[in-house]
Amino acid sequence: MNSEIKKEEEGEEGELDSSESYGSTSDSSSTSEADTEPPEAIPPCIRMVVVQSEVMTCGELFIVTCMGGSVGREGEHDVLLDDIGCSKSHARITYQDGKFYYQDQGSTNGSVINDRRLKGDETREIGHGSRITIGTTGLVCHVHPGIQTCLECEPGLMKTPIVTP
Ligand SMILES: [Zn+2]
Repeated sequence: MNSEIKKEEEGEEGELDSSESYGSTSDSSSTSEADTEPPEAIPPCIRMVVVQSEVMTCGELFIVTCMGGSVGREGEHDVLLDDIGCSKSHARITYQDGKFYYQDQGSTNGSVINDRRLKGDETREIGHGSRITIGTTGLVCHVHPGIQTCLECEPGLMKTPIVTP
């Protein structure tokens, strides 16, 4: 065993001798990132990707932060759906104790989450992978800490699913 280690040491010394001028210029190779913030400390964002719609572009992305947000067809909404089946003020999204909740605001056409229709102004928890259907528009929820994304909710990298009615 000792003889093998000795061999390697000799090899390195040999290389060092022949490349002395390199050492002084290649000092800036320390790229280790400082991981001082634990991921639990960053509140998540919910990213909603349009996966199916007769009127909207598949792949369109909406972001609701831990501050919460609203869903609607007209006005100032975080999730603005240009779908006639979406009421002007359709639903609210809130964040509490690490979880996101979706509450229908008594919309005309209602909301469906994971193939189950919400009753009236029922509140339901939504999480990563939840599917929300409003009118003809289907949205898939992504929940990641902070501004993190995955390949399916990163604008630009995202694959646009082709849905033919
Ligand atoms: Zn994602």
